[in-house]
Amino acid sequence: MPKILIANWKMNPVTEKEAVALARAEDVRSAVICPPFPFLGAVKKVLKRASLGAQDGFWKEVGAYTGEVSPLQLKKIGVKYVIIGHSERRLNLGETNEMIAQKLFVALRAGLTPIFCVGETKEEHERGEMKEVLDRQLRVGLAAVRAGTIAKEFFITYEPVWAISTMPGATADTPEGAAEAIRYIKSQVKDLVRPPVLIYGGSVNAVNAAGFLRHPDISGALVGGASLKPVEFKKIINLVA
Ligand code: PEP
Repeated sequence: MPKILIANWKMNPVTEKEAVALARAEDVRSAVICPPFPFLGAVKKVLKRASLGAQDGFWKEVGAYTGEVSPLQLKKIGVKYVIIGHSERRLNLGETNEMIAQKLFVALRAGLTPIFCVGETKEEHERGEMKEVLDRQLRVGLAAVRAGTIAKEFFITYEPVWAISTMPGATADTPEGAAEAIRYIKSQVKDLVRPPVLIYGGSVNAVNAAGFLRHPDISGALVGGASLKPVEFKKIINLVA
């Protein structure tokens, strides 16, 4: 399977015009472009090769949930992938493993491919708790997937929170450190009917991307900050194209 790049634009850019220009610059087969919700429609119209992803999806399909977006709505407008359990939502919005489990289940039922984010914080990392944190996130997060008969494609991103570019003092993990965590995740989910695709996310940029993308245990990268810079993102794309 070719390596994949998830472009997580987060709450950027501000205008549709900028979003469309960025999408055009990143429109390659190996990319999944995840713009903010208001730009999904406009970005969809210009993408010819890349897939469309959303940055979140709610844990119910319809109902009185002010401000939320249903995975069914995403599916209907042509979204294929959805990021679930991103650390910024866990930290800033208090998303729990239980909420994330329900979101994963509903996203899969809607026919979306989840990109399920797991990873430990800086404090947990320094206390040597990576495995315990991953165990909990995977056990609770995947409970509904394990219990059901769902055998659809899904992704897991190892996203060490201490390595995300917006965290103070962040630096990317090493490719071997990331691969070690990824191998551990793999060992914990090997009973699933369909093995997930495992990727790395955390300060991947044009300088360090080759180390991650050429590692045999890492199937791709989730790229935040660098996906907002077309020239830099292009250099990363060239490594997988
Ligand atoms: C992320 O937010 O998951 C991420 C990988 O961001 P960045 O590449 O900016 O570290």
